[in-house]
Amino acid sequence: MTDTARITGLRARAVAAPLAAPHVTASGTLEVAPLVLVDIATDAGVTGIAYAFAYTPLAAKPLSALVQTLEPLLAGQPVAPRAVGAMLAARFRLAGVQGMVAQALATVDIALWDASAKLAGLPLARFLGGQPRPLPAYDGIGMVDPGGVARDTEASLARGFRAFKLRAGRPEAREDLAAIHAARGAAGADAWVALDFNQAFTAPEAVRRMRLLDEAAPAWIEEPVLAQDHRGHAEVRAAIATPVQTGENWWGLPDMRASLDAGASDLIMPDAIKIGGVSGFLDAAALAAAEGRPMSSHLYIEVSAHLLALTPTAQMLEWFDIAGPVLAEPATIRDGHVTAPERPGHGMAWDEAAIARFSL
Ligand SMILES: [Mg+2]
Repeated sequence: MTDTARITGLRARAVAAPLAAPHVTASGTLEVAPLVLVDIATDAGVTGIAYAFAYTPLAAKPLSALVQTLEPLLAGQPVAPRAVGAMLAARFRLAGVQGMVAQALATVDIALWDASAKLAGLPLARFLGGQPRPLPAYDGIGMVDPGGVARDTEASLARGFRAFKLRAGRPEAREDLAAIHAARGAAGADAWVALDFNQAFTAPEAVRRMRLLDEAAPAWIEEPVLAQDHRGHAEVRAAIATPVQTGENWWGLPDMRASLDAGASDLIMPDAIKIGGVSGFLDAAALAAAEGRPMSSHLYIEVSAHLLALTPTAQMLEWFDIAGPVLAEPATIRDGHVTAPERPGHGMAWDEAAIARFSL
């Protein structure tokens, strides 16, 4: 038995990783992936790492600075993510653990779980008592015209995807219907196709649109109304045939519980950072199992591939590769599935030359 490993330092950096192409949603277009990269060094010779998506370049440097500010609180602390997380949550209780504070704390959680699994010499999924396994994954198709949807779906099929989520919420619902037909024209009439309104509508407007889109039987309609409008989600859910999906904007378990209590959705998809890192995702997986809700992931392919492998009601892994350009070994898709690597920890390592190139 060795002494508990302790934290010796933290480094946070902001980068703007390139996206293969701008990604158009009903609530804005992503041109690049602004990321905050976090390294936590320990006295045991391992370094745990994590990244958070800042969504807008405006937020990347402030989030990076906030994470860096945690270094004096963390120095000398044990490599014990739950214990450190409880300490940090207490320090920020009056400020509120949401927004950038929650993102910052989640990066620390993920980096410390990474370090813990590396110290054990095990992939994160095995360290947590499970094992890497192939998880069905879907690719995201931006809100482009039907010809573009067909082309993007074909390109995605060629890269190994079998399931697709279309950004939706075009000026007219029939244009979204045409997009579904375009994707299925490329991928096959029975192809798994889901829709994402990205919070664009009021409940009555979402219902009006889904009356038309229900006939195409999409796998789900995601965030038809504002993420925090649990009652609006429930109204839509009661009025349409398509399953309602939500969860990527839940800040921790309190939001998840409020959503479940409101009957907001059939399906859930927490975000590994917003829900509270590895710890928060595991808690969410337990709650999803108790509630009998199929659970998918949002962003964070690399960590989600370990965590969904442990999720009793795992459904789909979202593929949106925001970090690949700064990783030494980016995640890969094979026959429509993603499998977590057997490397110790979550398996990510930085490509330092790329980070230097994309530094903000
Ligand atoms: Mg979404």
